[in-house]
Amino acid sequence: MMDSIDGIKRLREGNERFVNGKSQHAATTLREDLSHGQSPFAIVLACSDSRVPVEMVFDQGFGDLFVIRVAGNIVAPSQIGSVEFAATQFGTTLAVVLGHSNCGVIQATLDELSLDTRHRSPNLRAIVDRVRPSVEPVLESFHGEVNAASKKQATEANVRASVEHLRHGSLLLEQLIDNGELTVIGANYSLASGTVDFLGD
Ligand SMILES: [Zn+2]
Repeated sequence: MMDSIDGIKRLREGNERFVNGKSQHAATTLREDLSHGQSPFAIVLACSDSRVPVEMVFDQGFGDLFVIRVAGNIVAPSQIGSVEFAATQFGTTLAVVLGHSNCGVIQATLDELSLDTRHRSPNLRAIVDRVRPSVEPVLESFHGEVNAASKKQATEANVRASVEHLRHGSLLLEQLIDNGELTVIGANYSLASGTVDFLGD
């Protein structure tokens, strides 16, 4: 089984190929061979943003990544359950929370905090409410100013919050992590450069 260090290396190399226009994976991958099973080497929890196509960003093919996408790459029970599912069913040892620059959900949260706007939809609120606790202190440290720097920090804070949530929001995942069978890390994708930066703890 591929361990999480190899997994991170594989993602880094794939992203490098993507950035350099040397992607190797097209729709011609061994799709049919996978009809009886899968063993994805990484779980990726990413934003639904149309500009962050996860397999392309990491230059991976069919069967390589177990991808969970939700606006704002937040962690709610169904996301934890999805990670539990992949980790236990397929033995996937690496989970990456992938945020990205210019995220609309981060912007909506910053707007709500700084402009005191209120989202009317309770469903959208449910997303913003999960982002707010990590973004609020960032905005305070910038004295309420929404700029490129505060947006970047807010994005990273949100990724780190999701990482922490996955690490400690489930006994099952906590056990896998304690046993060295699962690693959860954060990463940030730049829309401008195409580069993914992995975040340290
Ligand atoms: Zn987004």
